[in-house]
Amino acid sequence: MASKEKACMNCKTLYFGDKCPACGETPSTETFKGRIHIFDSKKSEMAENMEINKEGEFAIKTK
Ligand SMILES: [Zn+2]
Repeated sequence: MASKEKACMNCKTLYFGDKCPACGETPSTETFKGRIHIFDSKKSEMAENMEINKEGEFAIKTK
């Protein structure tokens, strides 16, 4: 249980493990700012601004 939470550089999904469960990409960062939980991407202005079209937890800013 030592693994750190990472943010996908591709889609900003927050996850633990080797690769992003959402898009399958591996580039990730442990340096991210803020987090947002999208419950309904179609009704979320934040999700729209971040170009997120699915539910889940996302980093607001990756570096
Ligand atoms: Zn991803």
